[in-house]
Amino acid sequence: MGDVIKLLPDHVANQIAAGEVVQRPASVVKELLENAIDAGAQQIQLIVKEAGKTLIQVVDDGKGMGTTDARMSFERHATSKIEKAEDLFALQTKGFRGEALASIAAIAHVEMNTRPEGEELGTRLVVEGSKVVSQESAVVPKGTSIQVKNLFFNIPARRNFLKSNQVELRHITDEFHRVALVHPNINFRFYHNGSELFHLPVSNIRQRIVNIFGTKTNEKLVPVTEDTHVVNISGFINKPEFARKSRGEQFFFVNDRFIKSSYLNHAVSAAFEGLLKSDTFPGYFLFLEVDPGSVDINIHPTKTEVKFDDEHSIYAIIRAAVKHSLGQFQVAPVLDFEH
Ligand code: ADP
Ligand code: MG
Repeated sequence: MGDVIKLLPDHVANQIAAGEVVQRPASVVKELLENAIDAGAQQIQLIVKEAGKTLIQVVDDGKGMGTTDARMSFERHATSKIEKAEDLFALQTKGFRGEALASIAAIAHVEMNTRPEGEELGTRLVVEGSKVVSQESAVVPKGTSIQVKNLFFNIPARRNFLKSNQVELRHITDEFHRVALVHPNINFRFYHNGSELFHLPVSNIRQRIVNIFGTKTNEKLVPVTEDTHVVNISGFINKPEFARKSRGEQFFFVNDRFIKSSYLNHAVSAAFEGLLKSDTFPGYFLFLEVDPGSVDINIHPTKTEVKFDDEHSIYAIIRAAVKHSLGQFQVAPVLDFEH
């Protein structure tokens, strides 16, 4: 029998990878914002049209790229962030898989304008469906601007699967919040269809939370801090009387990365036991710092799930820290007549 196995051409491999990395416009927003942060940006603009269906643009003032790097950045498994497998256990950056730009460019029309400091001219590169359409020198500001247009233009099934603009914008806003919350030292602006939805000036975590969720948030917040050899915890919980019917304001971050964990979420709920009306959820913004070698974030391409070496200890420490804060701020139990 003749041999039948062939290596897939790059553009096909990229399109397959894109299926995992890019679920919806919000996924592109997350990847571009994270790249801007990894580039050391101090100011980041997010510009979106029609909930990202027609345009997603991120403009940063970070370190920019030279011409060769600009071209390389669209190759799969091309990254400046790690070099060897061991680096995975000492990550200092959001990115490391080197597949976001390759994936995005496989399923959209992308224009990149970039210039490193010290160079007179920058590079303008247009890539559509993994094909480089044009590349030229250009007078552009220092930093990088990436425009992503016509997402899923070559995957009609995905395009049709997109939800209403309202729903897609909600997802984008959620990603924006997750990134902005953990980087209060960066100035963010977010525009949708020409109007400014958020301007978040440089501040601290508490002020950033208030800038995002409104001035009324301030009185809800109770600080949480705990330093142990397994994990350092900082952040805030909302007072129990502000618990809501939805889980909207529940945020865990591990080493500056937003994560989802129903296990850790349970640790917080357990600490609130007896203090909440039934069917309500406490709000929290908890920032965990662990040794990068003790957590695996490479579980899924979107990196929102993690695996801790010692998750039982982390659970116990979170529960104790939240309980302690609730006690210290003399949060009294509410009587719940609904039981
Ligand atoms: P990763 O972030 O995992 O390295 P990406 O595909 O997101 O992979 O990006 C590939 C490379 O392109 C990055 O490693 C980085 O060197 C470069 N890059 C991407 N976006 C930017 C940016 N906004 N500013 C500077 N360099 C960037
Ligand atoms: Mg990246």
